[in-house]
Amino acid sequence: MKQKTALISGAGIAGPAAAYWLNAAGWQVTIVEHAGAPRDGGYVIDFWGLGYDLAERMGLLNEIERVGYHARELRVIGDRGERLAGFGTKVFDELTGGRYVTLARRDLSRLLLAKAAPVAEMIFGDEIVMLQHDPAGVTARLRSGPVRRFDLVVGADGLHSQVRRLAFGPHEQFEKPLGYAVAAFEARHYQRRDPDIYMMHTKPGRMVGRFTLRDDRSLFLFVFTYDGARPATLEQQKTLLASLYRADGWEIADILQRLDEVQELYFDHVSQVVAPTWSSGRSVLVGDAAFCPSLLAGQGSALAIVAAYVLAGELARAEGHIEEAFAAYERRLRPYIATKQAGAARFASAFAPRTAFGVWFRNLVIQSFAIPGLAKLAVGREMIDRLRLPDYRLGPMPSTMERRTSDPG
Ligand SMILES: Cc1cc2nc3c(=O)[nH]c(=O)nc-3n(C[C@H](O)[C@H](O)[C@H](O)COP(=O)(O)OP(=O)(O)OC[C@H]3O[C@@H](n4cnc5c(N)ncnc54)[C@H](O)[C@@H]3O)c2cc1C
Repeated sequence: MKQKTALISGAGIAGPAAAYWLNAAGWQVTIVEHAGAPRDGGYVIDFWGLGYDLAERMGLLNEIERVGYHARELRVIGDRGERLAGFGTKVFDELTGGRYVTLARRDLSRLLLAKAAPVAEMIFGDEIVMLQHDPAGVTARLRSGPVRRFDLVVGADGLHSQVRRLAFGPHEQFEKPLGYAVAAFEARHYQRRDPDIYMMHTKPGRMVGRFTLRDDRSLFLFVFTYDGARPATLEQQKTLLASLYRADGWEIADILQRLDEVQELYFDHVSQVVAPTWSSGRSVLVGDAAFCPSLLAGQGSALAIVAAYVLAGELARAEGHIEEAFAAYERRLRPYIATKQAGAARFASAFAPRTAFGVWFRNLVIQSFAIPGLAKLAVGREMIDRLRLPDYRLGPMPSTMERRTSDPG
């Protein structure tokens, strides 16, 4: 039988994971990524749960742990640098049996790509500009000119997915802003370093965080209430941040000075993606393109990997019946994703409370997490994955995984 072919748009997290698992399911895979090379810079992510388990199955765990961090405290800082509240993050280790790590998004993406590249055709610096479905397959035109045929197209191209726009409809139908924006950048040689402590300063409606990285690098994260349009240029983004944060205390003057020097700034609305269906004809969405839970879920990358695995597994199970596989993929994941999105929306106000009272109350809650058992009770429900992944028999499964993910169904 002729090998089935898939075109994947996006080489972030979901894209390379889908390429790896589709290949394991017997598919011939092509990835097209509009950036000229794997994206650099950005932000750090927390990584645990089923995504962590699948990364283990992909043989990535040693590398992930090597480049990752194990934060020990989240500390809320006052205007003069004093500690206002905080809690030890070992509760996350307790809840996950030590399987919890913080790492740069680009490192996770790079490691996944290293697994996908040997088994996929890679096209960087290009994108799909036209999709045409028919009962036998999909015709895709790339911006550089070629027109090619595939059995299916996977949209793994993130929050503002191009495949979703071409095959499902305009972004506004799917992207639900949560009323916040986020910006992040990395700087070298920042004078203050607090290894393994997540430092956070909050004013009503905005927070700024700092996390110390290896090699004399530091990461800065801004989350703030914002309903306006995304400033178009880097300079406009910097100006907006400076105007909002300028008068805040703590280290903000130094941080804004470093911001002024950066050439790469992540800046976007904090949004969720809610799509009534994740497939249209022979196009299917995975990761943020399908169901972005927003950074507030702290789990979007893990969910992207889970979705890639389930999609490939259901395609293998359905033995060529693509529509059946798409339906099974959604049935298995939708309720699980819905709880993650609901949890993230609830968490939004804790990140950057809108009022002075809200900030005070949030700090009180954080401080109460120091009481033994309370943090576990408060965050346990959101953190523990209530989904059993089937063993689709797509790849090698270490013995520890068999207990975690096996499900005869
Ligand atoms: C500040 C911040 C903090 C976060 N913290 C966490 C966290 O703690 N834990 C966690 O698990 N998740 C976190 N997330 C979310 C996580 O980063 C995403 O959920 C995850 O990256 C989704 O992976 P993805 O592959 O679906 O999309 P992306 O990682 O966005 O990758 C999409 C890829 O598609 C490419 N692309 C875009 N358009 C096109 C096109 N037209 N054609 C071809 N390619 C295209 C992009 O260049 C990119 O390479 C955070 C996000 C942010 C912004």
